[in-house]
Amino acid sequence: MRSALETPVRVRFAPSPTGYPHLGNIRTALFNWLFARHHGGKFILRIEDTDSARKVEGTVEAIMESLQWLGLNWDEGPYFQSQRLAIYHEITRSLLEKRHVYLCYCSPQRLETMRQEQARRKQPPKYDRHCRDLTEEERSRLETTGVSSVVRFKMPLEGETTFCDLIHGSVTFRHDTLDDFILLKSDGYPTYHLANVIDDHLMAVSHVLRADEWLSSVPRHVLLYRALDWQPPQFAHLPIILGPDRTRLSKRHGATAITEYQRQGYLPDAMTNFLALLGWSLDDRTELLSRDELTKHFSLERVGKTAAVFNRDKLDWMNGVYLRQLSLDEFVQQAMPFLDRDLPESVKRPLDKSFVSGVLSLIQERARTLAEVPQLTSFFFADELQYDARLLLGGKLETKPAVQAITAASKRLAEVEAWDAAVLEAILRPLASELGLSTGKLFGLLRVAVTGCTAAPPLFQTMAVLGREKCLQRLNTAVEVLSAHSD
Ligand code: GLU
Repeated sequence: MRSALETPVRVRFAPSPTGYPHLGNIRTALFNWLFARHHGGKFILRIEDTDSARKVEGTVEAIMESLQWLGLNWDEGPYFQSQRLAIYHEITRSLLEKRHVYLCYCSPQRLETMRQEQARRKQPPKYDRHCRDLTEEERSRLETTGVSSVVRFKMPLEGETTFCDLIHGSVTFRHDTLDDFILLKSDGYPTYHLANVIDDHLMAVSHVLRADEWLSSVPRHVLLYRALDWQPPQFAHLPIILGPDRTRLSKRHGATAITEYQRQGYLPDAMTNFLALLGWSLDDRTELLSRDELTKHFSLERVGKTAAVFNRDKLDWMNGVYLRQLSLDEFVQQAMPFLDRDLPESVKRPLDKSFVSGVLSLIQERARTLAEVPQLTSFFFADELQYDARLLLGGKLETKPAVQAITAASKRLAEVEAWDAAVLEAILRPLASELGLSTGKLFGLLRVAVTGCTAAPPLFQTMAVLGREKCLQRLNTAVEVLSAHSD
């Protein structure tokens, strides 16, 4: 086998368009991309679309969008296997000539009966090699009847083969455990094995980095390379990703399409950082790594053998860190589409950028995703707040002193000249003792009156951003709510 640096590094991401790409698929893409970038090699995108029955509309676009969103730019492709059938046919012909493969005419019914029989005898399903040694006469007779055929690989009947996986080490398999697998289907389409091996060779792929689940295919691939007299690439099978409960990652754990994470307001850089750590690590401690750092340090030596565990809380935490690293302007730019999308329809569009900027400056520290931003800030934008008198009183105040307090605060606020947080605080703080209330009670009351919630960003800053008019109007409404309420 070749060593990592003897040949130019060429890797590929080879998804089948049979579903929307999820975390696992994109983690594979990312590792390939990082490996290519680390070695100054090429990253190829190849769409393995030879199973037309399983093709799902829109998934090719989703694959490309997901890669683009994460900045995983490809240097070549996309290649489509469905456009390369002539190549697969030609190579299959050469394999037939060299008798490494054979035509199998068995009908689906015959194969089904065979499988049932094997199941009854508790044997693993395996083709019984019925057509492997047909004579020329038998073959021509079958050809003239017009029955369809598939092409099968002539698996060596004994012996074993060893290959080296860069992550799992040396793997040996016995030939007698392997089937005469199909290379070309009766509809003329190649199977995954044939197209994958041919393309990896013709595209001069140096390293195959893919999910663990494909490890069991390598024996077949290695034998096929040998039959074709081709040198296999190096293999590296990446650890599976499990949910926090250590079961296979499923929708329940958030294994949704990667574009869903975009919709939920994760930043591409946070997502790449997070995905990079699903199976790879720099050391035992470092969690935050920029794209450049990942590229600089990525190596297969630090890819683990054991399953990686997906942890949504960690993703949220990491995304929060990346959100805080944005400048306020960048944060506004990123959050604006989410506000546009998720604020109630009653909020007038287009949103005022400088108001939005003031609002967002108060929550940038707290948001973990961009999708949270509209929820955290909707009270700033609302025309009217909906809350109950009891929330205002907080179980601590009577209606009458509460009304007095709000009225007194309104009066002072109406006279404030410079409307900023420090001035507001300087005016409202002394008011508490004048009214004989603790600051906690007064500020709690005012907080609910101007925000409709008990937990919100700091009161005076919030009021400063809301502006005088809106604050006074909301205090007024609070008095009305209280007046309509009896203790
Ligand atoms: N088409 C296969 C998939 O969907 C590719 C496996 C490989 O990388 O060889 O995962």
